[in-house]
Amino acid sequence: RVEVRAAHKAYGDLEVLRGVDLTVEPGTVTAILGPSGSGKSTLLRTLNHLEALDRGVVAIDGEIMGYRRRDDLLLELSEKDVLRQRTEVGMVFQQFHLFGHMTALQNVAEAPRRALGVPKREALARGRELLETVGLAAKADVYPRQLSGGQQQRVAIARALALRPKVLLFDEPTSALDPELVEEVLAVIRDLASAGTTLLIVTHEIAFARDVADHVVFMDGGRIVEQGPPDQVIGAPRHERTRGFLQRIH
Ligand code: ATP
Ligand code: MG
Repeated sequence: RVEVRAAHKAYGDLEVLRGVDLTVEPGTVTAILGPSGSGKSTLLRTLNHLEALDRGVVAIDGEIMGYRRRDDLLLELSEKDVLRQRTEVGMVFQQFHLFGHMTALQNVAEAPRRALGVPKREALARGRELLETVGLAAKADVYPRQLSGGQQQRVAIARALALRPKVLLFDEPTSALDPELVEEVLAVIRDLASAGTTLLIVTHEIAFARDVADHVVFMDGGRIVEQGPPDQVIGAPRHERTRGFLQRIH
């Protein structure tokens, strides 16, 4: 379970997160909607401690990200421990960030070898399985530049899964794709959801969110304005700002 409590974050004078509380239950899909600049990406980055909070905490299965408890104190974790913790939170970005000099399979097998010390053979075997999961078994030995955007994003998803994260975060995974490639990536995410993977997705694909998410969160101005089941938040939003946003985006 992912728990965010009273999360605050500012960049200088700009308050980007202004008291965010969020719980993501295991095996559920949460979609985060909201206008540009509302703090969605910042929230995701604090979940794996790429960004430290000014106040508040993020905990994954009770483990506080970036800190350990001693008595009543929170002590900062060493860089090594942060890196280990971070393997529990997978992340897929809008731009796929694949390693250009590595094949699809090498991209997927690299992190388990490096971060978890998984033996090469095992990492490669599991990498092939994951590429099959995302429909790219035939592209194992191809370099990213030889793949379409949708295929590259599917490799990025396989790579994020390779560390067996407790939760997988997507930050607008289809926004950089040509329209005809969006559906193949959404289909992979839909499969992961059906398989019970815990997912948190920032997306502008409202129909997809309504269809796949168990929980929908609408953010504006660094706060969660409204959250609940999709039929409520998307189907019958209670807040003016949510209604305005959904009208603009449709
Ligand atoms: P979008 O839909 O455009 O991706 P977002 O909801 O993801 O928006 P964030 O990227 O979280 O928004 O940014 C929230 C605010 O914080 C923005 O005003 C942004 O300019 C600012 N911001 C984000 N990162 C930094 C940073 N590293 N330094 C300074 N300001 C930042
Ligand atoms: Mg963003």
